[in-house]
Amino acid sequence: MNIVQCTFCKKPFASLGGRACPACLEQIDKDFITVRDYIYEHKHSNIDLISKETEVSKQIIMHLLKEGRLIIDSPDGDGLLVCEMCKKPINTGRLCKECMGKVSSSMDKNVIANKKPEPKPEQPNIKGSAKIGN
Ligand SMILES: [Zn+2]
Ligand SMILES: [Zn+2]
Repeated sequence: MNIVQCTFCKKPFASLGGRACPACLEQIDKDFITVRDYIYEHKHSNIDLISKETEVSKQIIMHLLKEGRLIIDSPDGDGLLVCEMCKKPINTGRLCKECMGKVSSSMDKNVIANKKPEPKPEQPNIKGSAKIGN
């Protein structure tokens, strides 16, 4: 178990892998329901308005979007989220559909295991250096 700093309240806590402390996780779950219900009723909304109306911080809304728990109801996600690989606008998660496909197909092929070892840059021989005892 590692002691890490909570991303949300900045307090240190014993983590099992997550980056939010138990208190914040509980809060995020409550906020998730609030925001989800708000989005359900106000389909075309933006994150500023959602944050203002629900009093849920934008940081938490962004977190929920990146986790894929919330989806922005707009094809390009209002430019709030971009694919972490190709930087294309997305409306939920971390990767666009194409990159997600690429990632999962590369995992199928086990590309990482078959990857060629990177050639080591060879140290250039220092020519013309002074030879001793010749
Ligand atoms: Zn916290
Ligand atoms: Zn992409």
